Amino acid sequence: MSSQQYCSFCGSRLSGSDLFLRSSSHAVICGACVQRAHEALHGADPEEAKRPAFDVKALEVPKPYKIKGFLDQYVIGQHDAKKRLAVAVYNHYKRIAQNNVSKEDVELEKSNIIMLGETGTGKTLLANTIARMLDVPFAIVDATVLTEAGYVGEDVESIITRLLQNANFKVAAAEKGIVFIDEIDKVSRKSDNPSITRDVSGEGVQQALLKLLEGSIINAPPQGGRKHPEQKMIPVNTKDILFIAGGAFEGLDKIIARRLNVSAIGFNAGERRSRVNSNNLLQYVTPTDLRQFGLIPEIIGRLPVITHLESLDKTALRQILTEPKNAIVKQYVKLFALDNVKLSIDEEVLDYIVDEAIKHKVGARGLRAICEELLMDAMYELPEDDRIEELHITKSYAQEKLANTFDQQAA
Ligand code: ADP
Repeated sequence: MSSQQYCSFCGSRLSGSDLFLRSSSHAVICGACVQRAHEALHGADPEEAKRPAFDVKALEVPKPYKIKGFLDQYVIGQHDAKKRLAVAVYNHYKRIAQNNVSKEDVELEKSNIIMLGETGTGKTLLANTIARMLDVPFAIVDATVLTEAGYVGEDVESIITRLLQNANFKVAAAEKGIVFIDEIDKVSRKSDNPSITRDVSGEGVQQALLKLLEGSIINAPPQGGRKHPEQKMIPVNTKDILFIAGGAFEGLDKIIARRLNVSAIGFNAGERRSRVNSNNLLQYVTPTDLRQFGLIPEIIGRLPVITHLESLDKTALRQILTEPKNAIVKQYVKLFALDNVKLSIDEEVLDYIVDEAIKHKVGARGLRAICEELLMDAMYELPEDDRIEELHITKSYAQEKLANTFDQQAA
């Protein structure tokens, strides 16, 4: 009879010299699986494992004013969103701290946030910057990949898996983390009328998201993706996880415009209309508009802080190039400095870059691509030549380098 041993976990064959453990019921686990299990519980880094568990009381939550000040260093404009985010985040962590201290009779409710605004206006950047400031686990997930359980796509539980992964599988830390759910508008109900065919990527996902947002124990599959029965799940309580949802909500402005006009009838319509800034109607959004757009009322109820982002005008784009702490131009200056080259760019070149971004409607996200194109040849050639210590970009150089950029992309 063969005495060959196999790991009951991963199925690998064990040779005589391999480390393994055997249970009283003859199950065998190999050394590699023991190591993986250890890492899942304590993080891969042994030093990490020695650190105490996540403690929210040790988390220094700055006051809203300070949070906004921090955001100002990285994000241009968007003052309404920054202010609301700062207050919501501050209240959220205050609430957790209070829950930890004593069981008060007044229970503070969670204030998840929804941010509305065109793509590329800084929603992800805001969420990311806040998480970095607080030093809590943070995960970005895209709502479009989610489907109702049992259908092709990812279960909503994979959102929590992502957070766990980013928290080195420290459940206590993940339970105080921040999740940014992008493109929440894409899971809107497909039509107002419940249809015969199931809406597995729309309303079905919203229903599934609901249990995450309202706070419950979620069994997250450690590897993400689809859950399957044999997999061991990690239970995570989402009660204290802050959810920030974001979306462009294309077409929502029309719903708002209709409502504003309708409700103005008979109430001195002319005066009302003149007070409405039609450039950014998202600022007037109400929960009813979101409902009409296709979010289910329960989801809206779980995202009580609603805020909007402004579209970025020329001035804002120009500031994004040079002002934030991680501004694009500052990053290139640093990149070249690492090769001992002093990079300088003429002011009129910066204006030209912004004009190109506006002309081709590529927004803030396009700024980097334009700069990359502008400096590509220099980044390729300069490291070869030690004698060059300075690179000065003029408008004619920029025009030459960018001449074909958009034509090529269009082709
Ligand atoms: P969204 O999530 O709204 O689609 P992002 O936050 O991902 O947009 O923005 C894309 C990129 O554009 C960011 O990484 C950043 O470089 C730049 N950006 C966008 N908005 C701003 C802003 N308000 N201030 C600074 N940079 C911005």
